[in-house]
Amino acid sequence: MARSPLDILHSVFGYHGFRGQQETIIEHVVNGSDALVLMPTGGGKSLCYQIPALVRPGAGIVISPLIALMHDQVEALRQNGVRAAYLNSTLTLDEARATEQALTDGELDLLYMAPERLLTERTLRLLGRARLSLFAIDEAHCVSQWGHDFRPEYTQLDLLAERFAGIPRLALTATADEPTRRDIRIGLRLEQARAFVDGFDRPNIRYRIGQFPDARGALLRLIEEEHPQDAGIVYCLSRRKVEALATWLQDRGVKALPYHAGLPSETRRRHHQERFLREDGVVIVATIAFGMGIDKPDVRFVAHLDLPKSIEAYYQETGRAGRDGLPATAWMAYGLQGVLTLRQMLEASNAEERHKAIERRKLEAMLGLCEITSCRRQALLYYFGDRLEAPCGNCDNCLEPPATWDATLAAQQAMSAIYRTGQRFGVNYLIDVLRGSDSTRIRDFGHDRLKVYGLGQDLAATRWRSVFRQLVARGLVSVDVEGHGSLRLTDAARPVLRGDETLSLRQDPESKKQRRAARQA
Ligand code: ADP
Ligand code: ZN
Repeated sequence: MARSPLDILHSVFGYHGFRGQQETIIEHVVNGSDALVLMPTGGGKSLCYQIPALVRPGAGIVISPLIALMHDQVEALRQNGVRAAYLNSTLTLDEARATEQALTDGELDLLYMAPERLLTERTLRLLGRARLSLFAIDEAHCVSQWGHDFRPEYTQLDLLAERFAGIPRLALTATADEPTRRDIRIGLRLEQARAFVDGFDRPNIRYRIGQFPDARGALLRLIEEEHPQDAGIVYCLSRRKVEALATWLQDRGVKALPYHAGLPSETRRRHHQERFLREDGVVIVATIAFGMGIDKPDVRFVAHLDLPKSIEAYYQETGRAGRDGLPATAWMAYGLQGVLTLRQMLEASNAEERHKAIERRKLEAMLGLCEITSCRRQALLYYFGDRLEAPCGNCDNCLEPPATWDATLAAQQAMSAIYRTGQRFGVNYLIDVLRGSDSTRIRDFGHDRLKVYGLGQDLAATRWRSVFRQLVARGLVSVDVEGHGSLRLTDAARPVLRGDETLSLRQDPESKKQRRAARQA
């Protein structure tokens, strides 16, 4: 009789209990159903296919692009007594033959390979002769062109659906935003698969985001008053800024060290990285190059002096704080100047227009998270498809609700502009309609005859942008991020449209001035 998942968890892996949704996912796959598993790195995705592969008869095929890691993964499994193997170009011909034989003889529980190997006719025929328990497609976001890890071979993995119909397939990834999920579903033929989103919350991290007239000074106060002697990471966008800030902090008694790709690798790795890992209270001032593969559990704060270019980047970078589970701070100072710089960098890049459009919307989403006045954690998790029922009580907005203005009317006007124009237009067009711009495009569509046309003249275009960003950040409006960026209302929009719910926006000095100017005009 097959062993139970819990039995295997204890006896093979030596763990006491399942984490988060692992048990539900495992049961789902053991029953032969497809699944889409979205968990952050370190969340425990592997068990979600390893245990079903041990429960179900036959071998589980694990598809991973990371050939370099296969050896270690398989070795670790073998140590636990699992019959695991891999097929890749590092094996000799004899070794590969022996592994293939073991597969067809039913002597393997798990077999790892890269997609290009799997897709050869030879391997497909081999798999056709073997008894298989499941397919696990790791790093499934590689199928998506939205993002940076696109692997063309992944798009051919859809053939598994027909060629091995009836064998459950799981796609696993740490990238959980909506466009990626959609690409995975379509690209891997997992339209019907149940999705499990789990574990993105980092409850011990306190998120704080603000605009400061003197960001450096605010950072120094944060270090001196809240994190003296603590290890921390400060992210800046440019090497020059990294150098200048590290020196500035050193002059004020902080053990700050610069880290960026322009430093000699000896200095970077040997000296600065080593000191960060071994000494107490070292603050690394870095470009985004820092942090990959560095495992320091007691980083107490991560600060951003520049806006990250996406929520994914923000989540990944702030995620380096508090891995030990103890309280940690994610602090960010942003300014509109920084936003403009990022936008200019983006426009100046050589990327395809389609790609740039995606990057632009990611940046807008990041700004939305900055501007939101409700719980940051709820908004952050919402972005990743994870849910938090109540406000967290551990972010700046929960702890010190910001000064706001009642933007309900503006939100209603914005949403009715979306609705009246047929939910087919992007932000810029909608703002033009609201502000009553004299444009032939608007006249051609007849939108100058809508009731909302010109209704929003008293708010500046930048204000309107912020209103739209808030609607998106709160999930009242969704963006067709891959297409033309058109906005649509979600079900959550209804209460605000009906007037049952209000929407408030952060009151920053700029908005007050702008509104006064608008009133006087
Ligand atoms: P991911 O693939 O999501 O990045 P892993 O599957 O590698 O994460 O798991 C991350 C770490 O957590 C591993 O060291 C793994 O052994 C451990 N782990 C996973 N599930 C459990 C569990 N239920 N109990 C204890 N440790 C677990
Ligand atoms: Zn909160």
